[in-house]
Amino acid sequence: MGFAYDDSNIFAKILRGEIPNNTVAENDHALAFRDISPKAPTHVLVIPKGAYVSFDDFSKNASDAEIVGFMRLCAEVAAAEGVSLDGGNGFRAITNAGEDGVQEVPHFHLHIMGGRMMGPMVSLRD
Ligand code: AMP
Repeated sequence: MGFAYDDSNIFAKILRGEIPNNTVAENDHALAFRDISPKAPTHVLVIPKGAYVSFDDFSKNASDAEIVGFMRLCAEVAAAEGVSLDGGNGFRAITNAGEDGVQEVPHFHLHIMGGRMMGPMVSLRD
């Protein structure tokens, strides 16, 4: 059983086809699409198709097949966007969890950002 999941969140609506998205890649277990408010030339969100709230929910409760599908899609996105170390200049992959992590959308997602120098790892604001 996963953590309490609110299926009215915006990524659940994207997965149900209720609102559009700019898809980059997809497999049986995960979907990758462009962030609506990009912070870098490449800013892609990778989400599992299953109902998982956060990184720790997904890591604890997803099946092996879901985890493999998700991770392989991340690698596919990095390669397709030209930011993979295999020919590209690198990227940052981050996931925010909960209140202290400043997670806005309560469906697990990994941000893959690149195409420019990403700067310091964390910039704090009060
Ligand atoms: P987080 O703070 O990690 O939960 O990030 C949520 C991200 O989702 C933000 O970077 C938003 O710009 C992005 N976002 C919100 N709504 C949409 C949408 N409809 N399509 C694509 N990205 C979105």
